[in-house]
Amino acid sequence: MVDLETIASLCKRRGFVFQNSEIYGGIGSTWDFGPLGVELKRNIKEAWWREVVHRRDDMVGQDSAILMHPEVWVASGHVANFNDPLVDCKECKKRFKADDLSGDRCPECGGELTEVRQFNTMFKTYVGPVEEEAAIAWLRPETAQGIFVNFRTVQMASRKKVPFGIAQIGKSFRNEITTGNFIFRTREFEQMEIEFFVKPGTDEEWHERWIYDRLEWYKKYGIKPENLRLRAHDKNELAHYSKGTTDIEYNFPWGWGEIEGIANRTDYDLKAHQTQSGKDLSYFDDQTQESYIPYVIEPSAGVERPLLAFLIDAYTEEEVRGEKRVTLRLHKALAPIKAAVMPLKRNEPRIVETAHKLADDLRKSFVCQYDDTGSIGKLYRRQDEVGTLWCITVDFQTIEQDNTVTIRDRDTMEQIRVPIEGVKQMLLDQLAVD
Ligand code: ATP
Repeated sequence: MVDLETIASLCKRRGFVFQNSEIYGGIGSTWDFGPLGVELKRNIKEAWWREVVHRRDDMVGQDSAILMHPEVWVASGHVANFNDPLVDCKECKKRFKADDLSGDRCPECGGELTEVRQFNTMFKTYVGPVEEEAAIAWLRPETAQGIFVNFRTVQMASRKKVPFGIAQIGKSFRNEITTGNFIFRTREFEQMEIEFFVKPGTDEEWHERWIYDRLEWYKKYGIKPENLRLRAHDKNELAHYSKGTTDIEYNFPWGWGEIEGIANRTDYDLKAHQTQSGKDLSYFDDQTQESYIPYVIEPSAGVERPLLAFLIDAYTEEEVRGEKRVTLRLHKALAPIKAAVMPLKRNEPRIVETAHKLADDLRKSFVCQYDDTGSIGKLYRRQDEVGTLWCITVDFQTIEQDNTVTIRDRDTMEQIRVPIEGVKQMLLDQLAVD
């Protein structure tokens, strides 16, 4: 398996991911997504939204604000419970999560450790000009609460009946004590979350169904099944709101790590908000004439961790005619660039004009690059390395004989000649996702 340094270096060199504020030396564990990274990120979010919202009749979406009323975080338990136990080394001053330590000495220098302190990992800020207690606001540590507090409003507006769910994608913030492994653990990240509301008693069955559906999603979009596994949490590691949680883990170069957690949050959050706000958050089932607070199944994924998993899983190296060939075999829906159009000669006006015209036309339908910055062989290698699905070459035969171009496939390296007018439809047909 590829190591993390190789991936991080490819990411930087080719404009996927690089350090934030780099010209100032960077800020710890904060990363920016470049031209290709932002496309990959958008495609992952789009693939998620397509499958969990557009293709289902029992899901709707929303987009709530990052800042929320401070009582939200009291009700949710985050003010009281969203803590990491923290210890410092008195000698080398290094800071550790108490959960990560096995002995009572510093793992780095053997020094004496401080007592365990509780550290709330929510970022605190102030609304308005005065930094006073009454103006405290938090940067959300999960998008979920924005869904819970809107449950009734969204349910009534969409006229959905339980069981149904609400999906949301957005930034979350956690003042993590230990960060690292590139973009795996950062303080600012994106989440793709679903809160799926069900009748109490049907929750365990829905939990199983969502675990299955979410695992299938990763496989569908290209992750090898052997690099995925499910891990059910032990009772003592469950979050304060959870009756049961199963993580989807990916086999990262440093070992298995969570990319998504699927929790049975019971009626914990809706009940807590009902009590705190004094507003009725129950659901009335007009068929059975019953009123109840729904249970909630929550499939909660990050964006950056799955992105890293997709990149690592897609990375391949092989030898082709004595040269190393690096290919990102990303799923067609995720590949940042779908096609690259290349003129065989960049100073032959008729070839250049035809190639530009084709690229402009393809660009109306999907991401297409015009690339004339090297020999065709070199361009192929560069496009393979970022996962471009097809390289299309315009040559003398195109302009002098029959108006056909060659299309080279990333995965098979096979080349076919097709009439230029048919290229777009052919590629669009191949891009369709089942
Ligand atoms: P961990 O145990 O690794 O800290 P968690 O159990 O706290 O993760 P959840 O609260 O279940 O994570 O969050 C759901 C998803 O959000 C995770 O599966 C992960 O993809 C993403 N996520 C959580 N924390 C971070 C972080 N600090 N950096 C990047 N992504 C994160």
